[in-house]
Amino acid sequence: MKVETDPISIQLLKLQTIDQKILETRDRIRAFEPQLEEVDEPALRLEQEYNTTASRLQEMKLDERRLELAVDEKRARVQRLEDRLNQVRNVREEAAVQAELGLVRRALESEEQEAVSLLDQIGRFEDRLEEQGRSMEAEKAAVEPRKRELNADREAAEAELSAFQGERESFATDIDERYRRVYDNLIRGGRRVAVAPMTEDGACGSCYSVIPLQVQHEIRAVARLVLCESCGVIVTAPVAAEDMPADKDDAAQAAGEVAPEAGEEE
Ligand SMILES: [Zn+2]
Repeated sequence: MKVETDPISIQLLKLQTIDQKILETRDRIRAFEPQLEEVDEPALRLEQEYNTTASRLQEMKLDERRLELAVDEKRARVQRLEDRLNQVRNVREEAAVQAELGLVRRALESEEQEAVSLLDQIGRFEDRLEEQGRSMEAEKAAVEPRKRELNADREAAEAELSAFQGERESFATDIDERYRRVYDNLIRGGRRVAVAPMTEDGACGSCYSVIPLQVQHEIRAVARLVLCESCGVIVTAPVAAEDMPADKDDAAQAAGEVAPEAGEEE
């Protein structure tokens, strides 16, 4: 890749600045997700507790209903046996009915006991459910302003992103397609730096590998664009600080991201 003039290198650097803003904004938008989850977490935990209590209560109410039906059924049986007791014809029959009546009454009594203690438990669970419901609602109300704030910030970041994307689209169409394609292929490969000016002492502005002297000379003399042999970015002629599209700190940071010497990636 040879040629040409300064404008294309500055154009590519400007395009890169926009692309970096796009990536930065995307990162910022993604970062809202864990923040929102963190804010929601206590309320969600309370909601889970609430739901556990509610379903336990539901089960107990079903048990209680079943028990009540059993109690009703036994009461009816007791009634029938008592009626039969009035119609017995001999002592043997009376003894048999009495024996059965005794059994049914004991079973009835124990089921009635069970129903009472279940009702008592249901009462306690209802209190607990109400209390858990209050805590849950209170927690939800407490985090609501923070959630609204985070959601508003995220929407603002999303609006910024689409503005940058619009800017990128119209800016990119004005760039010579041959260069833009090389640049786009580098960016599409996932790197954040696709173009970097050569440093004053003749190193790639991205990975800081020293560029062969002859190539350095061409870069300086005719502003030739070359691909760095070490890291593959487009290397342009050195750019004066005041001509850099991004401010100096940003550019240094961006370059640091792909420099092998810079251990951490951010
Ligand atoms: Zn390089």
